[in-house]
Amino acid sequence: MTDKFTVSVLGTGIMGAAMARNIARAGHPVRAWNRTRAKAEPLAADGAHIADTPAEAVQGADVVLTMLYDGGAVMEVMREATPGLRPGVVWVQSTTAGGEATAELAAFAEECGLVFYDAPVLGTRQPAEAGQLTVLAAGPEEGRAVLEPVFGAVGARTVWTGPDAAEGSASRLKLLANSWVLAATAAAGEVLALARALDVDPERFFELIADGPLDMGYLRAKIGLLVDGELTPPSFTVATAEKDARLILEAAERGGARLHLAAATAERFRRAAEQGHADEDMAAAYFASFDEPRP
Ligand code: NAP
Repeated sequence: MTDKFTVSVLGTGIMGAAMARNIARAGHPVRAWNRTRAKAEPLAADGAHIADTPAEAVQGADVVLTMLYDGGAVMEVMREATPGLRPGVVWVQSTTAGGEATAELAAFAEECGLVFYDAPVLGTRQPAEAGQLTVLAAGPEEGRAVLEPVFGAVGARTVWTGPDAAEGSASRLKLLANSWVLAATAAAGEVLALARALDVDPERFFELIADGPLDMGYLRAKIGLLVDGELTPPSFTVATAEKDARLILEAAERGGARLHLAAATAERFRRAAEQGHADEDMAAAYFASFDEPRP
């Protein structure tokens, strides 16, 4: 049995493009589709076939990988792909979609006879480009042999969370990780905003916490992007961060938990997007602290 599989990648944004490139470089035939075709075209240099439609992209696929904005976009695109899909194809759903949408997508997969895996990823642009993501995965034991080389191409580690993808156990764990990431990003922006408001050099703060338990590489990285004015190209956009903050809030509410910090964080992302920062790195939530543009 060969360990090379034809992989169709639907969605070649920041994450999908990097994942598709690493899959192609690992020797798997890749068929890529993106709504804005120009973002998929550079993958042709790595041997990928660029398709005009989702249905064309999934023709002959062993594995379909979805890496789109949210659960709604995934459902829309997979419905368009239906004419090209054959029963038994493995569907790896890596979009951050949350548990509810994952259950709906799993039901759609069942209707189409697809073998569904709930497989969100942890890590951002740089780890995606380096093939160093962590894949959180739930789904049946039988298809895992097909997935190992594909997950191996995009990630350094796979964390299996259960055999039933419809339960969304991987997506639920992913929301926990994102609640931490988004809170840390918002807090980093507020530390810098406070430093500006109090006329304190942020370097003094870094010296103060250096090498102690309060120091954090992620905090330094996000403040660094703001101080150095490197919010583009983004690793994770403000618009996507707002979407994830809202997924977290909705999921918490359904589970009976009140999350004040997540609500405030969602509002900071919304406000930063409204100010024109939607396509910048989510560190730009910092700007929500001010009415006027600030350096
Ligand atoms: P991105 O660069 O904004 O890519 C989003 C993709 O979704 C693009 O290909 C976009 O197409 C497509 N899309 C959006 N709405 C669509 C629709 N209605 N129909 C068809 N295509 C649609 O975002 P990303 O950062 O790669 O994120 C992709 C997913 O991974 C998100 O769920 C995100 O939460 C998750 N994620 C992101 C990161 C990160 O650090 N960036 C990390 C882990 C997980 P166009 O190009 O035409 O707009």
